[in-house]
Amino acid sequence: MAAARDLAFACNCGKLGGTLRGAAPNVGTHAECSCRDCRAAELHLGQPDPAPGPVGIFQTTPDRVTITKGADELAVFSFGDKNLLRWHAACCGTALFNTPRNPKLSFVGIRTNSFADTAPLGPVVAQGFIPTKNGKTRHKGLLRMIGSALSRIAMQRLTGRWKNTPFFDTNSATPVSPVTVLPQGTRKALLAPAS
Ligand SMILES: [Zn+2]
Ligand SMILES: [Zn+2]
Repeated sequence: MAAARDLAFACNCGKLGGTLRGAAPNVGTHAECSCRDCRAAELHLGQPDPAPGPVGIFQTTPDRVTITKGADELAVFSFGDKNLLRWHAACCGTALFNTPRNPKLSFVGIRTNSFADTAPLGPVVAQGFIPTKNGKTRHKGLLRMIGSALSRIAMQRLTGRWKNTPFFDTNSATPVSPVTVLPQGTRKALLAPAS
């Protein structure tokens, strides 16, 4: 197995950047997601449409993420008041992270586009919402992905490491940036085929 190393990430314009500590295949799950939310998020941020392709995500724990510059550019939106928090760089609209709303659920999905090099993450081992010919979606490696996320979350709770997160003030469980909840119907409008 490749040795773990710190891996730099940055937004497209380079203003916001940081490191993923100890990047290696065994500290997370290298996944691809083709769900509607991930696609709509890219479109909302003015990024190129990933469809019909997926977006790449490395799922790990927030204690591995350090923002070393441009932290004031870190902004966050959500498609509804219970949906995932979608963190991005306000400077240039780069989608960077997804997290649950509860910091005790130590989970972060990092958009792999923001890494200069994805080789340290290992190959993609899980794929969500893969489109099929009959219009339905299927998943690959989903159980393994959920299993490893749950065991990492449990470990972070046991050790108290869930408190090391760049995304929340953990005393008040408040996100470090105000959350913009998009009006209902935004996602549908984003995904509507251009006429
Ligand atoms: Zn930027
Ligand atoms: Zn998704």
